[in-house]
Amino acid sequence: MTTSPRILGDVPRHWVGDGFFVKTMFSYSDLGHDLSPFLLFDYAAPREFPPRDVPAGVGEHPHRGFETVTIAYQGSGAHRDSSGSSGVIHPGDVQWMTAGSGVVHEEFHEREFAKRGGVVEMVQLWVNLPARDKKTAPRYQTLRAATIPTVALAAGVEARLIAGELSGARGPAQTFSPVDLWDLTIAAGASATLPRVQGHTAAVFVRHGSLRVGDDVTIGAGELVVLPKDGTRVELTTQSDTGALFLGGEPIREPIVGYGPFVMNTKAEIAAAFDDYEHGRMGHLRD
Ligand code: MN
Repeated sequence: MTTSPRILGDVPRHWVGDGFFVKTMFSYSDLGHDLSPFLLFDYAAPREFPPRDVPAGVGEHPHRGFETVTIAYQGSGAHRDSSGSSGVIHPGDVQWMTAGSGVVHEEFHEREFAKRGGVVEMVQLWVNLPARDKKTAPRYQTLRAATIPTVALAAGVEARLIAGELSGARGPAQTFSPVDLWDLTIAAGASATLPRVQGHTAAVFVRHGSLRVGDDVTIGAGELVVLPKDGTRVELTTQSDTGALFLGGEPIREPIVGYGPFVMNTKAEIAAAFDDYEHGRMGHLRD
């Protein structure tokens, strides 16, 4: 268990396909238990893409055993998958995809956005599924910006609730274990206190601006602080206009065994996932 705040973010960027230039803030390979139920956090900081006829992105690939949560801050994304589902998210929207038993999908910039060109800023989180739900049927939740409630926490401090409950409001995401995902906007000079559930994972990520978290930690753009699990609140203060994301959740206390796009509980389940994918049992994208 983490006993003091831990700051993450001093990591190189890498391309996911040719559409998302990301920093992997954390991954289950080193912090899977400290940050459970969160497995991975990729941040694509604002980046200008020139106009192009063929959208940039990442082609056909599978997932099994967890959920991918994509938050569009700038730019528009389009996906389609082996179940025949497809969709587009625009700034403010969130796509909450339950890979469950397995999907094959692709993730690109949306075609019209790609033609115009523009800035892309997105977050993709991987959220683990409890063992009992790893083989659940794949599902999509497209959480439109208009359906995501905003609560005012203090003067100059607003939280958009993607998942979880705060100040009597509740985010629209349906989750398999308790997850709080709150998108924070904090004006220069403002401060607020967020409640936390004791024993739950808690982390704060800053997209832009900077944030003092508690008494002794300040993080800047592209940094994330992992808080000790024993707290019941988190105090946030800033001297500059700041966009941040609060991640909270009940740890899933089960083995984490992952390889590439699959995260299961045992090596045998990973081998089975590769076998199922290679034999087409997660389906294919239609042409
Ligand atoms: Mn994917």
